[in-house]
Amino acid sequence: MSSFEFTDRVGRVSPSATLAISNEASALETQGVDVVDLSVGEPDFNTPENVKTAAHDALDAGKTGYTPSPGIPELREAIAEKLRADGLDHDAENVMVTPGGKQALYEVFQTLVGEGDEVALIDPAWVSYEAMTKLAGGSLTRVDTTPYGFHLEAALEDLQTAVSDETDLLVVNSPGNPHGMVYTDAALRGVRDLAVEHDITVVSDEIYQQIVHDDREMTSLGSLSGMGDRTITLNGFSKAYAMTGWRLGYFAGPAELVSEAGKVHGHSVSCATNFVQHAGVEALRNTDEAVAEMAAAFERRRDTLVAELADRGVDVPAPEGAFYLMLPVAADDQAWCAEAIGEAHVATVPGSAFGTPGYARLSYANSTDRLLEAFDRLEAHDLLTAGV
Ligand code: PMP
Ligand code: GLU
Repeated sequence: MSSFEFTDRVGRVSPSATLAISNEASALETQGVDVVDLSVGEPDFNTPENVKTAAHDALDAGKTGYTPSPGIPELREAIAEKLRADGLDHDAENVMVTPGGKQALYEVFQTLVGEGDEVALIDPAWVSYEAMTKLAGGSLTRVDTTPYGFHLEAALEDLQTAVSDETDLLVVNSPGNPHGMVYTDAALRGVRDLAVEHDITVVSDEIYQQIVHDDREMTSLGSLSGMGDRTITLNGFSKAYAMTGWRLGYFAGPAELVSEAGKVHGHSVSCATNFVQHAGVEALRNTDEAVAEMAAAFERRRDTLVAELADRGVDVPAPEGAFYLMLPVAADDQAWCAEAIGEAHVATVPGSAFGTPGYARLSYANSTDRLLEAFDRLEAHDLLTAGV
């Protein structure tokens, strides 16, 4: 039997908690168990019809070969146009099209984070930022917004204490996974001031940009003065257009960075899938109505969930966007989640995977009936009242 010597690099990271739990839920379902899966963040809607048609048309037109490595010109231009509408000064050359937002982040981390470089995260933070930092050899500094109900504006002083001239990269994610908060303009200006003062590059992960509740305005960080040449804007098609399995995303930033990251891109994925990129153009240009309908459905579910939890004696900070809710559970959130899936057959992700023990993340990208069913089951197993 052969034995492998794995790299330190891969030894530094754990499997993705979000994907691991969703796999566990699928395995139970294969055994015939009815699981309410609130683990992975995946819209429960179908991709809009016109986007699917655009992919069929592209296939019929023979769009099956490699494309230019950074993406087809039509899509790069359509993305640049969207970014300009958000107030960013970008052209097609500022855009890299990738197979998913995750790959976009990976390329950015590989390009900007070296051995010993410091990456600042705002907790709770999506699971893969930590792993990508570690894979790149970087170290982490973390700021916890939990004591402030996940509001960054209230945590700015803590952020100021955490970052310094040693900080190389700061990741900002609004609307945020796993808490659903939308950072205020004052919070974003606070980030800008710190980034300028300490010369920090900022990744602004805006993948939930179109899923914002209560008519809140969502400002793109790179549009603030002083941020244009230090912000990398990350986005993708998975969430807004219900296209998780298509694997399409992008990052945008200074052309010099896009060009350098192009080496990682070219040597790893070559390009995103050809006909999927053509469908991406349609998604960007002709889906306003479908996107608004899905976002409205998420908001209605948020309302039901928060009200239902209050009725059952559990107060939660109401999410302002995305489709995640942080439920206070028990000090040992991992044990709570294990019991929730094992006994109540409700799959959730432990807050500790996001740097925030004591909570479980529930994705409300599921029907209201199933969400209420989840609460009934958790209550029946005495799992709803625990709290931290
Ligand atoms: N950023 C955040 C905050 C996410 O939740 C996700 C979802 N996996 C991604 C990036 C990447 O998504 P995708 O690779 O599907 O575009
Ligand atoms: N972003 C989603 C989540 O947090 C998808 C899973 C993943 O890529 O980690 O559940």
